[in-house]
Amino acid sequence: MIVSEKMYELGSKRSAIRELFEYGKQRAAIVGPENVYDFSLGNPTVPAPDCVNEAIRELTEELDSISLHGYTSAQGDIEMRQAVADYLNKTYETNFKADNFYITMGAAASLSVCFKALTMSPEDEFIAIAPFFPEYQVFVQAAGAKFVVVPADTTEFQINMEALEKAITPHTKGIIVNSPNNPSGAVYNENTIKELAALLEKKSAEIGHPIFLISDEPYREIAYDGVEVPYMTKYYNNTLVCYSYSKSLSLPGERIGFVLVPDEVTESKAVYAAIAGSGRALGYVCAPSLFQKVIVKCIGNTGDVNLYKKNRDLLYEGLTKIGYECFKPDGAFYMFVKALEEDSEAFCEKAKEEDLLIVSATGFGCPGYVRISYCVDEEMIKRSFGAFERLYQKYQK
Ligand code: PLP
Repeated sequence: MIVSEKMYELGSKRSAIRELFEYGKQRAAIVGPENVYDFSLGNPTVPAPDCVNEAIRELTEELDSISLHGYTSAQGDIEMRQAVADYLNKTYETNFKADNFYITMGAAASLSVCFKALTMSPEDEFIAIAPFFPEYQVFVQAAGAKFVVVPADTTEFQINMEALEKAITPHTKGIIVNSPNNPSGAVYNENTIKELAALLEKKSAEIGHPIFLISDEPYREIAYDGVEVPYMTKYYNNTLVCYSYSKSLSLPGERIGFVLVPDEVTESKAVYAAIAGSGRALGYVCAPSLFQKVIVKCIGNTGDVNLYKKNRDLLYEGLTKIGYECFKPDGAFYMFVKALEEDSEAFCEKAKEEDLLIVSATGFGCPGYVRISYCVDEEMIKRSFGAFERLYQKYQK
Protein backbone atom coordinates (compact mmCIF):
# COMPACT_ATOMS: atom_id res chain seq x y z
CA MET A 1 0.00 0.00 0.00
CA ILE A 2 1.32 3.45 -0.91
CA VAL A 3 -0.80 5.36 1.57
CA SER A 4 -1.27 5.31 5.32
CA GLU A 5 -3.10 2.11 6.15
CA LYS A 6 -4.89 3.79 9.03
CA MET A 7 -6.11 6.69 6.89
CA TYR A 8 -7.09 4.30 4.10
CA GLU A 9 -9.17 2.35 6.56
CA LEU A 10 -10.86 5.48 7.94
CA GLY A 11 -11.64 6.77 4.47
CA SER A 12 -12.88 3.60 2.87
CA LYS A 13 -15.12 2.36 5.66
CA ARG A 14 -18.29 4.34 6.26
CA SER A 15 -19.39 4.80 9.87
CA ALA A 16 -22.16 2.41 10.93
CA ILE A 17 -24.53 5.40 11.19
CA ARG A 18 -23.78 6.61 7.65
CA GLU A 19 -24.14 3.03 6.40
CA LEU A 20 -27.61 2.84 7.92
CA PHE A 21 -28.58 6.22 6.46
CA GLU A 22 -27.52 5.06 2.96
CA TYR A 23 -29.47 1.82 3.45
CA GLY A 24 -32.52 3.94 4.36
CA LYS A 25 -32.27 5.83 1.08
CA GLN A 26 -32.15 2.54 -0.86
CA ARG A 27 -35.17 1.17 1.03
CA ALA A 28 -37.11 4.41 0.46
CA ALA A 29 -36.69 3.94 -3.30
CA ILE A 30 -38.22 0.46 -3.00
CA VAL A 31 -40.98 0.78 -0.38
CA GLY A 32 -41.59 4.55 -0.52
CA PRO A 33 -40.07 7.18 1.78
CA GLU A 34 -43.21 7.26 3.94
CA ASN A 35 -42.62 3.63 4.91
CA VAL A 36 -39.04 4.01 6.12
CA TYR A 37 -38.49 5.31 9.65
CA ASP A 38 -35.00 6.72 9.63
CA PHE A 39 -33.80 7.65 13.13
CA SER A 40 -30.13 7.28 12.26
CA LEU A 41 -28.53 10.72 11.81
CA GLY A 42 -28.12 13.76 14.04
CA ASN A 43 -28.75 16.29 11.27
CA PRO A 44 -30.80 19.17 12.75
CA THR A 45 -34.26 19.36 11.16
CA VAL A 46 -35.33 22.59 12.83
CA PRO A 47 -34.54 25.40 10.36
CA ALA A 48 -31.84 27.95 11.15
CA PRO A 49 -33.47 31.01 12.76
CA ASP A 50 -34.49 33.81 10.36
CA CYS A 51 -31.66 36.02 11.59
CA VAL A 52 -29.18 33.76 9.72
CA ASN A 53 -30.58 34.42 6.26
CA GLU A 54 -31.22 38.06 7.13
CA ALA A 55 -27.58 38.42 8.22
CA ILE A 56 -26.36 36.79 5.00
CA ARG A 57 -28.54 39.15 2.90
CA GLU A 58 -27.35 42.22 4.80
CA LEU A 59 -23.71 41.21 4.68
CA THR A 60 -23.71 40.43 0.98
CA GLU A 61 -25.34 43.81 0.29
CA GLU A 62 -23.12 45.82 2.64
CA LEU A 63 -19.67 44.38 2.14
CA ASP A 64 -17.32 44.13 -0.81
CA SER A 65 -16.05 40.76 -1.97
CA ILE A 66 -12.71 40.91 -0.16
CA SER A 67 -14.23 41.91 3.19
CA LEU A 68 -16.80 39.18 2.76
CA HIS A 69 -14.81 36.30 1.35
CA GLY A 70 -11.18 37.12 2.12
CA TYR A 71 -8.92 35.31 4.59
CA THR A 72 -9.57 36.27 8.20
CA SER A 73 -6.95 36.24 10.97
CA ALA A 74 -5.74 32.66 11.44
CA GLN A 75 -7.37 32.48 14.89
CA GLY A 76 -10.59 34.13 13.68
CA ASP A 77 -11.61 37.76 13.34
CA ILE A 78 -11.42 39.90 16.46
CA GLU A 79 -15.09 40.88 15.91
CA MET A 80 -16.32 37.30 16.26
CA ARG A 81 -14.00 36.51 19.15
CA GLN A 82 -15.13 39.63 20.99
CA ALA A 83 -18.81 38.93 20.27
CA VAL A 84 -18.49 35.40 21.67
CA ALA A 85 -16.65 36.66 24.78
CA ASP A 86 -19.31 39.34 25.39
CA TYR A 87 -22.16 36.90 24.91
CA LEU A 88 -20.72 34.28 27.28
CA ASN A 89 -19.83 36.90 29.90
CA LYS A 90 -23.36 38.26 29.83
CA THR A 91 -25.00 34.83 29.88
CA TYR A 92 -22.81 32.95 32.37
CA GLU A 93 -21.20 35.78 34.36
CA THR A 94 -17.74 34.83 33.16
CA ASN A 95 -14.83 37.09 32.39
CA PHE A 96 -13.50 36.02 28.98
CA LYS A 97 -11.63 38.18 26.50
CA ALA A 98 -11.43 37.92 22.71
CA ASP A 99 -7.92 36.46 23.08
CA ASN A 100 -9.28 33.41 24.89
CA PHE A 101 -10.95 32.15 21.67
CA TYR A 102 -9.68 30.29 18.65
CA ILE A 103 -12.33 30.08 15.93
CA THR A 104 -12.63 26.73 14.15
CA MET A 105 -14.66 24.79 11.61
CA GLY A 106 -17.07 23.27 14.17
CA ALA A 107 -16.65 20.98 17.15
CA ALA A 108 -14.88 18.24 15.17
CA ALA A 109 -12.08 20.71 14.35
CA SER A 110 -12.08 22.14 17.89
CA LEU A 111 -11.63 18.68 19.41
CA SER A 112 -8.95 17.62 16.92
CA VAL A 113 -7.03 20.83 17.58
CA CYS A 114 -7.18 20.29 21.36
CA PHE A 115 -6.02 16.67 21.27
CA LYS A 116 -3.10 17.51 18.99
CA ALA A 117 -2.12 20.57 21.06
CA LEU A 118 -2.07 18.59 24.32
CA THR A 119 -0.43 15.36 23.15
CA MET A 120 3.26 15.21 24.01
CA SER A 121 3.97 11.49 23.78
CA PRO A 122 2.34 8.34 22.34
CA GLU A 123 1.73 7.23 25.92
CA ASP A 124 -0.60 10.18 26.61
CA GLU A 125 -4.18 9.19 27.27
CA PHE A 126 -7.57 10.86 26.81
CA ILE A 127 -10.52 9.39 28.65
CA ALA A 128 -14.06 9.40 27.28
CA ILE A 129 -17.10 8.62 29.39
CA ALA A 130 -19.44 6.07 27.80
CA PRO A 131 -21.72 6.54 26.03
CA PHE A 132 -19.64 8.84 23.81
CA PHE A 133 -19.55 10.32 20.29
CA PRO A 134 -17.54 7.68 18.35
CA GLU A 135 -15.43 10.21 16.42
CA TYR A 136 -13.57 11.03 19.67
CA GLN A 137 -11.59 7.85 19.19
CA VAL A 138 -10.65 8.83 15.64
CA PHE A 139 -9.57 12.33 16.69
CA VAL A 140 -7.56 11.17 19.74
CA GLN A 141 -5.75 8.45 17.81
CA ALA A 142 -5.06 10.82 14.91
CA ALA A 143 -3.36 13.14 17.41
CA GLY A 144 -1.11 10.21 18.36
CA ALA A 145 -2.56 9.56 21.82
CA LYS A 146 -4.36 6.64 23.44
CA PHE A 147 -8.14 6.50 23.78
CA VAL A 148 -9.48 5.17 27.09
CA VAL A 149 -13.14 4.48 27.87
CA VAL A 150 -14.90 4.65 31.22
CA PRO A 151 -18.05 2.49 31.30
CA ALA A 152 -21.44 4.18 31.47
CA ASP A 153 -23.55 4.90 34.50
CA THR A 154 -26.61 3.22 33.01
CA THR A 155 -29.01 4.35 35.73
CA GLU A 156 -28.77 8.14 35.41
CA PHE A 157 -26.22 8.51 32.58
CA GLN A 158 -24.18 10.87 34.74
CA ILE A 159 -20.54 9.83 35.44
CA ASN A 160 -19.41 6.66 37.17
CA MET A 161 -16.83 8.48 39.37
CA GLU A 162 -15.32 5.31 40.83
CA ALA A 163 -14.66 3.90 37.38
CA LEU A 164 -13.27 7.25 36.24
CA GLU A 165 -10.92 7.44 39.22
CA LYS A 166 -9.62 3.96 38.41
CA ALA A 167 -9.06 4.89 34.76
CA ILE A 168 -6.85 7.91 35.56
CA THR A 169 -3.12 7.14 35.32
CA PRO A 170 0.04 9.28 35.26
CA HIS A 171 -0.41 9.32 31.45
CA THR A 172 -3.86 10.92 31.57
CA LYS A 173 -3.83 14.21 29.66
CA GLY A 174 -7.51 14.91 29.50
CA ILE A 175 -11.08 13.82 30.11
CA ILE A 176 -13.67 14.42 27.39
CA VAL A 177 -17.18 15.28 28.56
CA ASN A 178 -20.23 16.05 26.46
CA SER A 179 -23.34 17.50 28.03
CA PRO A 180 -26.11 17.56 26.80
CA ASN A 181 -24.93 14.19 25.63
CA ASN A 182 -24.94 12.47 22.29
CA PRO A 183 -26.18 9.68 22.43
CA SER A 184 -27.89 9.51 25.87
CA GLY A 185 -29.53 12.96 25.94
CA ALA A 186 -28.41 13.30 29.59
CA VAL A 187 -27.36 16.67 30.99
CA TYR A 188 -24.71 16.60 33.71
CA ASN A 189 -26.11 18.21 36.83
CA GLU A 190 -24.17 20.58 39.04
CA ASN A 191 -23.46 17.86 41.57
CA THR A 192 -21.82 15.66 38.94
CA ILE A 193 -19.71 18.56 37.71
CA LYS A 194 -18.58 19.48 41.23
CA GLU A 195 -17.64 15.85 41.96
CA LEU A 196 -15.81 15.62 38.65
CA ALA A 197 -13.91 18.86 39.34
CA ALA A 198 -12.92 17.66 42.82
CA LEU A 199 -11.72 14.32 41.46
CA LEU A 200 -9.68 15.98 38.71
CA GLU A 201 -8.11 18.44 41.18
CA LYS A 202 -7.15 15.54 43.46
CA LYS A 203 -5.77 13.33 40.68
CA SER A 204 -3.90 16.23 38.99
CA ALA A 205 -2.13 16.87 42.32
CA GLU A 206 -1.38 13.14 42.70
CA ILE A 207 0.11 12.68 39.22
CA GLY A 208 1.90 16.03 39.29
CA HIS A 209 0.46 17.61 36.13
CA PRO A 210 -2.88 19.07 35.14
CA ILE A 211 -5.61 16.87 33.75
CA PHE A 212 -7.53 18.92 31.21
CA LEU A 213 -11.28 18.79 31.00
CA ILE A 214 -12.28 18.96 27.35
CA SER A 215 -15.88 19.98 27.28
CA ASP A 216 -17.55 19.22 23.95
CA GLU A 217 -20.68 21.40 23.86
CA PRO A 218 -22.48 21.46 20.52
CA TYR A 219 -25.82 20.83 22.27
CA ARG A 220 -25.42 23.42 25.08
CA GLU A 221 -28.58 25.36 24.14
CA ILE A 222 -30.69 22.27 23.41
CA ALA A 223 -32.05 21.49 26.90
CA TYR A 224 -35.67 21.14 27.94
CA ASP A 225 -37.97 22.12 30.79
CA GLY A 226 -35.58 24.73 32.16
CA VAL A 227 -32.84 22.18 32.92
CA GLU A 228 -29.59 24.05 33.63
CA VAL A 229 -26.45 23.27 31.66
CA PRO A 230 -23.75 24.63 34.01
CA TYR A 231 -20.79 26.38 32.38
CA MET A 232 -17.85 24.04 32.99
CA THR A 233 -15.11 26.68 33.24
CA LYS A 234 -16.74 27.98 36.44
CA TYR A 235 -16.12 24.67 38.21
CA TYR A 236 -12.71 23.55 36.99
CA ASN A 237 -9.86 25.82 35.95
CA ASN A 238 -8.20 23.52 33.43
CA THR A 239 -11.24 23.38 31.16
CA LEU A 240 -11.05 23.80 27.39
CA VAL A 241 -14.44 24.33 25.76
CA CYS A 242 -15.09 22.98 22.25
CA TYR A 243 -18.19 24.66 20.89
CA SER A 244 -20.04 24.54 17.60
CA TYR A 245 -22.97 26.38 16.00
CA SER A 246 -23.90 23.23 14.05
CA LYS A 247 -26.81 22.33 16.30
CA SER A 248 -27.81 25.54 18.14
CA LEU A 249 -28.16 27.54 14.91
CA SER A 250 -28.79 24.46 12.70
CA LEU A 251 -25.70 25.21 10.60
CA PRO A 252 -23.81 21.89 10.44
CA GLY A 253 -22.84 22.37 6.80
CA GLU A 254 -21.32 25.78 7.38
CA ARG A 255 -18.56 24.58 9.75
CA ILE A 256 -18.20 27.18 12.46
CA GLY A 257 -17.33 26.92 16.17
CA PHE A 258 -14.51 27.69 18.58
CA VAL A 259 -12.06 26.52 21.22
CA LEU A 260 -12.08 28.51 24.46
CA VAL A 261 -8.89 28.63 26.55
CA PRO A 262 -9.70 30.61 29.74
CA ASP A 263 -6.95 32.57 31.55
CA GLU A 264 -7.41 30.24 34.54
CA VAL A 265 -5.95 27.29 32.58
CA THR A 266 -2.42 26.38 33.74
CA GLU A 267 0.09 28.12 31.43
CA SER A 268 -2.89 29.43 29.47
CA LYS A 269 -0.80 31.49 27.03
CA ALA A 270 1.26 28.42 26.12
CA VAL A 271 -1.89 26.28 25.80
CA TYR A 272 -3.48 28.91 23.53
CA ALA A 273 -0.32 29.10 21.42
CA ALA A 274 -0.31 25.30 21.09
CA ILE A 275 -4.00 25.39 20.07
CA ALA A 276 -3.14 27.97 17.40
CA GLY A 277 -0.13 25.87 16.34
CA SER A 278 -2.23 22.75 16.17
CA GLY A 279 -4.83 24.62 14.09
CA ARG A 280 -2.02 25.65 11.78
CA ALA A 281 -0.57 22.14 11.54
CA LEU A 282 -3.97 20.62 10.79
CA GLY A 283 -5.03 23.37 8.39
CA TYR A 284 -7.82 24.63 10.65
CA VAL A 285 -7.01 28.30 10.14
CA CYS A 286 -9.19 31.19 8.94
CA ALA A 287 -12.61 29.65 9.64
CA PRO A 288 -15.30 30.57 7.07
CA SER A 289 -15.30 34.37 6.83
CA LEU A 290 -18.98 34.84 5.97
CA PHE A 291 -20.11 32.71 8.90
CA GLN A 292 -17.82 34.45 11.37
CA LYS A 293 -19.72 37.61 10.41
CA VAL A 294 -23.10 35.85 10.59
CA ILE A 295 -22.31 34.68 14.13
CA VAL A 296 -21.56 38.26 15.21
CA LYS A 297 -25.05 39.24 14.05
CA CYS A 298 -26.90 36.14 15.32
CA ILE A 299 -25.16 35.29 18.58
CA GLY A 300 -27.66 34.39 21.30
CA ASN A 301 -30.28 33.11 18.82
CA THR A 302 -31.12 29.43 18.33
CA GLY A 303 -33.40 27.35 16.17
CA ASP A 304 -36.78 26.53 17.75
CA VAL A 305 -35.73 24.11 20.52
CA ASN A 306 -39.37 23.58 21.39
CA LEU A 307 -39.83 21.52 18.22
CA TYR A 308 -37.25 19.02 19.49
CA LYS A 309 -38.95 18.96 22.87
CA LYS A 310 -42.27 18.15 21.21
CA ASN A 311 -40.61 15.25 19.39
CA ARG A 312 -39.00 14.06 22.59
CA ASP A 313 -42.33 14.01 24.42
CA LEU A 314 -44.12 12.29 21.56
CA LEU A 315 -41.46 9.60 21.17
CA TYR A 316 -40.95 9.03 24.89
CA GLU A 317 -44.67 8.64 25.57
CA GLY A 318 -45.21 6.42 22.51
CA LEU A 319 -42.31 4.07 23.24
CA THR A 320 -42.86 3.73 26.99
CA LYS A 321 -46.54 3.02 26.33
CA ILE A 322 -45.54 0.11 24.07
CA GLY A 323 -43.24 -1.18 26.83
CA TYR A 324 -39.77 0.03 25.86
CA GLU A 325 -37.40 1.09 28.63
CA CYS A 326 -36.29 4.60 27.65
CA PHE A 327 -34.03 7.10 29.36
CA LYS A 328 -35.91 10.41 29.26
CA PRO A 329 -33.49 12.90 27.74
CA ASP A 330 -33.12 16.40 29.18
CA GLY A 331 -31.28 17.70 26.16
CA ALA A 332 -29.74 17.14 22.69
CA PHE A 333 -32.06 15.27 20.31
CA TYR A 334 -31.36 11.62 20.97
CA MET A 335 -33.21 9.01 23.00
CA PHE A 336 -31.37 6.10 24.58
CA VAL A 337 -33.44 2.93 24.71
CA LYS A 338 -32.68 -0.51 26.12
CA ALA A 339 -32.49 -3.11 23.37
CA LEU A 340 -34.90 -6.03 23.82
CA GLU A 341 -32.04 -8.51 23.62
CA GLU A 342 -28.50 -8.37 24.95
CA ASP A 343 -27.01 -8.09 21.48
CA SER A 344 -28.06 -4.58 20.43
CA GLU A 345 -26.63 -5.11 16.93
CA ALA A 346 -28.96 -8.07 16.43
CA PHE A 347 -31.81 -5.99 17.82
CA CYS A 348 -31.13 -3.22 15.28
CA GLU A 349 -31.09 -5.83 12.49
CA LYS A 350 -34.54 -7.01 13.63
CA ALA A 351 -35.67 -3.35 13.65
CA LYS A 352 -34.47 -3.05 10.05
CA GLU A 353 -36.94 -5.77 9.06
CA GLU A 354 -39.65 -3.26 10.04
CA ASP A 355 -37.79 -0.48 8.18
CA LEU A 356 -36.99 1.09 11.54
CA LEU A 357 -33.48 2.51 11.32
CA ILE A 358 -32.02 2.89 14.79
CA VAL A 359 -28.38 2.75 15.84
CA SER A 360 -26.82 0.19 18.17
CA ALA A 361 -24.95 1.91 20.98
CA THR A 362 -22.05 -0.56 20.81
CA GLY A 363 -20.07 2.05 18.85
CA PHE A 364 -20.90 4.59 21.56
CA GLY A 365 -19.27 2.30 24.14
CA CYS A 366 -22.58 1.17 25.61
CA PRO A 367 -23.70 -2.20 24.21
CA GLY A 368 -27.23 -3.33 25.01
CA TYR A 369 -28.73 0.06 24.12
CA VAL A 370 -29.82 1.81 20.96
CA ARG A 371 -29.86 5.47 19.99
CA ILE A 372 -32.95 6.95 18.38
CA SER A 373 -32.26 10.32 16.83
CA TYR A 374 -35.45 12.39 17.00
CA CYS A 375 -34.39 15.44 15.02
CA VAL A 376 -36.85 14.16 12.42
CA ASP A 377 -40.26 15.07 11.08
CA GLU A 378 -42.93 14.74 13.78
CA GLU A 379 -45.19 12.89 11.32
CA MET A 380 -42.54 10.22 10.83
CA ILE A 381 -42.44 9.62 14.58
CA LYS A 382 -46.22 9.18 14.59
CA ARG A 383 -46.12 6.79 11.62
CA SER A 384 -43.31 4.74 13.20
CA PHE A 385 -45.19 3.53 16.29
CA GLY A 386 -46.79 0.60 14.42
CA ALA A 387 -43.33 -0.63 13.45
CA PHE A 388 -42.04 -0.17 17.02
CA GLU A 389 -45.05 -2.14 18.27
CA ARG A 390 -44.42 -5.02 15.82
CA LEU A 391 -40.75 -5.07 16.83
CA TYR A 392 -41.73 -5.23 20.49
CA GLN A 393 -44.21 -8.07 19.83
CA LYS A 394 -41.45 -10.15 18.19
CA TYR A 395 -39.79 -10.34 21.60
CA GLN A 396 -42.92 -11.24 23.55
CA LYS A 397 -43.29 -14.75 22.12
N1 PLP B 1 -19.51 16.31 19.23
C1 PLP B 1 -20.70 15.71 19.29
C2 PLP B 1 -21.13 15.12 20.58
C3 PLP B 1 -21.53 15.62 18.17
O1 PLP B 1 -22.71 15.01 18.27
C4 PLP B 1 -21.08 16.18 16.95
C5 PLP B 1 -21.88 16.09 15.73
O2 PLP B 1 -22.87 15.42 15.63
C6 PLP B 1 -19.82 16.81 16.93
C7 PLP B 1 -19.07 16.85 18.08
C8 PLP B 1 -19.28 17.41 15.68
O3 PLP B 1 -19.93 18.61 15.44
P1 PLP B 1 -19.50 19.65 14.32
O4 PLP B 1 -20.54 19.58 13.24
O5 PLP B 1 -19.55 20.97 14.98
O6 PLP B 1 -18.15 19.30 13.85
